[in-house]
Amino acid sequence: MGVDKITGEMQDITAKISAHYVDNARNLPWRVPPKISASGALPNPYHIWLSEVMLQQTTVAAVVAYFQKFTKRWPTVKHMATADEADVLAAWAGLGYYARARNLHKCARHVTEMLDGVFPSQEAELLKLPGVGTYTAAAIAAIAFGERAVVVDANIERLVARLFAIDTPLPKGKADIRVGMDGLTPAVGAGDFAQACMDIGASICTAKSPKCDKCPVQIHCAAFANGDQERYPVKPPKKAKPLRKGRFFWIERDEKLLLVTRPPTGMLGSMRALPDDQWAAGTDGHGRPPSEGNWRVHENVVQHSFTHFSLEVDLAVYQSDKIAINMGDNKNTEFGPGISDAVWWPIQEIEDAGLPTLFAKAVRWAVKHKLKESL
Ligand code: SF4
Repeated sequence: MGVDKITGEMQDITAKISAHYVDNARNLPWRVPPKISASGALPNPYHIWLSEVMLQQTTVAAVVAYFQKFTKRWPTVKHMATADEADVLAAWAGLGYYARARNLHKCARHVTEMLDGVFPSQEAELLKLPGVGTYTAAAIAAIAFGERAVVVDANIERLVARLFAIDTPLPKGKADIRVGMDGLTPAVGAGDFAQACMDIGASICTAKSPKCDKCPVQIHCAAFANGDQERYPVKPPKKAKPLRKGRFFWIERDEKLLLVTRPPTGMLGSMRALPDDQWAAGTDGHGRPPSEGNWRVHENVVQHSFTHFSLEVDLAVYQSDKIAINMGDNKNTEFGPGISDAVWWPIQEIEDAGLPTLFAKAVRWAVKHKLKESL
């Protein structure tokens, strides 16, 4: 089936979703509640931009605390523009997909330096900003500026695919889903309408066991009529993810741990981390430690899933008060090309290091297994 509902029914669906939002909107710190937005009030574009970048591939539940932390520390885009990239990356630690944090900082600088701290309101202009793609530009234009833009996130994708029983598998089916959402999006209030659809997708039209008895548009839903709601959106057959092996190096001296700053390009770029053996998405690590020494290897202590591959991590440990590692000139030597800023970090304060989740998992493993006593 495709997007073939007649205009009158489309308007009916739009009206029911909008009405449902008035009493059921999620209370989120970046939003203007619908009873206030009805008078024309719009949210702060900085807040919408920040929340939308954070929400890419991350749940609302995980984002709220980060949003509050970021807006407290950097209340405006100009404040963020003056921050060090390393501080933004450290504050982002745990949210994953770190390219977003680097682009966030780059975008804050661009908006501050080139646009005097004012976000553009047009979708096409927003699309030119660093890290702002099709979805984010449409969401900011609609929600923060009241533009009529067609917003399609994963929740909306699922809701619309089910309403119209769109059976073209993703990603090809995205075009039909967009046509469906375009047909539903009102000329006025596109931002609230998009947020209303997101809320229904997140809390009623869920991926598993949708609560169709609570759905305001059940009567219009083709998937419900067919009884095959969970079939949509139709996904392409899953490809097996390649498995990569990598090794982290726990180098400890005087209760301090050696941390490095990763190269600016590539995975987890510019993040503070344990030294590793240069594993990557397309290749296993070489496994060789960065120096001679009494290394102990703990195998497969962390399993981590990236979008396109899975990683199994060994932890190689070297603890000594006489570690002979050249700290003065480590570029292209012990830690691999591009690594810089090696520091001895107190293990007691490791939570403050802002390590990405993958490395934080290895550190937690070491602490849990009382690494020190075991050696
Ligand atoms: Fe989703 Fe069920 Fe509503 Fe259809 S009736 S849109 S499947 S919640």
